[in-house]
Amino acid sequence: MKRILQDLSLPELEALVLSLGEKKFRAAQIFQGLMHGKKISELPVPAALRARLLEEYEDEPVRLQEVFTSQDGTKKYLFALADGNLIEGVLMQYKYGATQCISTQVGCRMGCKFCASTLGGLIRNLTAGEILSEILVVNRAEGGTLKERAVHNVVLMGSGEPFDNYDNVVKFLRLLTSEGGIHISARNISLSTCGLVPKMRAFAKEGIPLNLTVSLHASSDEERARTMPVANAYKIADILKACDEYFRATGRRYIFEYSLIGGENCDEAHAHALASLLKGRPCHVNLIRLNEVKERSLKSVSEKEAYRFLGYLEKDGISATLRRSMGSDIGGACGQLRASYLEKTNNAPPMS
Ligand code: SAH
Repeated sequence: MKRILQDLSLPELEALVLSLGEKKFRAAQIFQGLMHGKKISELPVPAALRARLLEEYEDEPVRLQEVFTSQDGTKKYLFALADGNLIEGVLMQYKYGATQCISTQVGCRMGCKFCASTLGGLIRNLTAGEILSEILVVNRAEGGTLKERAVHNVVLMGSGEPFDNYDNVVKFLRLLTSEGGIHISARNISLSTCGLVPKMRAFAKEGIPLNLTVSLHASSDEERARTMPVANAYKIADILKACDEYFRATGRRYIFEYSLIGGENCDEAHAHALASLLKGRPCHVNLIRLNEVKERSLKSVSEKEAYRFLGYLEKDGISATLRRSMGSDIGGACGQLRASYLEKTNNAPPMS
């Protein structure tokens, strides 16, 4: 695979064009073009410069392969990378704007028992420019520009563990939030982690005040370890300390994801245990009814059970909401689309 031009910031592009003997202003033209989702071969620069760039850089690092539209307007995208790997993303329409869910890795190695993304393990990390291109491609396909974006919010909740690909994800966040680019502000970005504590602590020092979200799914380390192997490496107490560090550094309250798994983590005692763990902290709990994955045996809960759990938390003084499930008719859960596509086409994910 060639290199990814979208990995470069404007100052890095300036250094590149100067090294090619071109005028500095070409860098801004290239940057603007790329941020509009253009391929190198479509950039508004002289043909000789495009040809020179194409010798070393991928023309289209992320290509829209298929789009599935749900009855509720949610769109699910299957993207092909330059090396043939597939990733997926989702665009959800909310009253406050369109939110795109993006992937940060091809596959995942965290091994959560309820998740489809991790079924085939980690294939590879995405580069910063590949992650960014997921958004650039969708913004363009939906008729958005840099002034009138079609994507308003971004959540890092697709396939992959963002903090397992830390450097590329941080670089991506700087590109995404930089002025002159697609410029989505940090408060419109949510990053979800399974709780890699050292990386959470490092991230608090990066000065990126986004919505930090942690996948908790249990209120004790023992119960958490039943579905999340990462719980054997990092304790909930240390995750909470790292969240507090993030709050002190950014002033942003943090969010916990809690997927309700039938017979596992959703009776009244679990709700009270979760509430006493989180009581008094500057946090919010997002409840999600487990999205059943056919390769996994875990079961979901009824809407009634989910609201009952929400009621217990609220009575205990915890700020919480039950997340509306969207796009379930088109394979809403992480990794489901890629998994079913690979199965349908009998196409094992390529290794690289
Ligand atoms: N690796 C990151 C982000 C990816 S997943 C993380 O672990 O947070 C985004 C969220 O969806 C996580 O909270 C994850 O635990 C949850 N999730 C994954 N599969 C799910 C499923 N089948 N049903 C409900 N939630 C799921």
